[in-house]
Amino acid sequence: MTYTLHAAHLYGDLMNTYGDIGNILAMRYYAKAVDADITVDLVSLDDRFDEEKYDFALFGGGQDYEQTIVSKDLQTKKDALTAYIEAGGPLLAICGGFQMLGHYYIGAHGEKIAGIGALDHYTLSQDNNRFIGNITIENAETHQTYYGFENHNGMTFLGEGERPLGQVLQGNGNNGKDQSEGVIYKNTFGSYFHGPILARNEALAKRILKLALQRKYPEGNFDALDQLNEDLTKNVIVKP
Ligand code: GLN
Repeated sequence: MTYTLHAAHLYGDLMNTYGDIGNILAMRYYAKAVDADITVDLVSLDDRFDEEKYDFALFGGGQDYEQTIVSKDLQTKKDALTAYIEAGGPLLAICGGFQMLGHYYIGAHGEKIAGIGALDHYTLSQDNNRFIGNITIENAETHQTYYGFENHNGMTFLGEGERPLGQVLQGNGNNGKDQSEGVIYKNTFGSYFHGPILARNEALAKRILKLALQRKYPEGNFDALDQLNEDLTKNVIVKP
């Protein structure tokens, strides 16, 4: 392989709802088309997140219980993760992971679970309800449509400098009120979409992969990715 990206799977042993690691597998699948490979390190409790080493990071979803455990450890990685994000490191955060990059998440039992405030959103709890179901959004810059499945108690409200990943066409999104779904901040993407989002949404997978490749290999030419038409969902029958 000509190119190698190093990915960190943050708390992959605790936060991997609906197989969020499939996001890295999808990226690796597309990476092959431009002769690139992706290595994956599990970066979990008591491990160091080396912001110089990684070219991509995935922070998946989790249940409230796991989030309380992760919350404490995450504070030890706060500086490194914030530095990585601010330097434009590509990161995808799903559901619980998305919540914990923000200031805090109020769990279903009213407990306040601290995030790291690397991004400016916060997440409240809804009473006796969860947002569960298929969801469709449209990205404002590319007009691409993304499909996924959401299952969350939290209602997230974006802050300063954050723009949504998309506008809700069907489903609830961040909070069921303002039609926003997910977040984009620098090269960090957050979303409530499981699916996993990059396995179901080829265009987004290639966008994030290209960002990571170009950041590490500014001289490289990755245009072959745009020609590639390999929708990973083409053989999957999704019943409405
Ligand atoms: N525990 C969080 C919530 O219920 C996140 C859930 C998830 O990651 N799927 O909102």
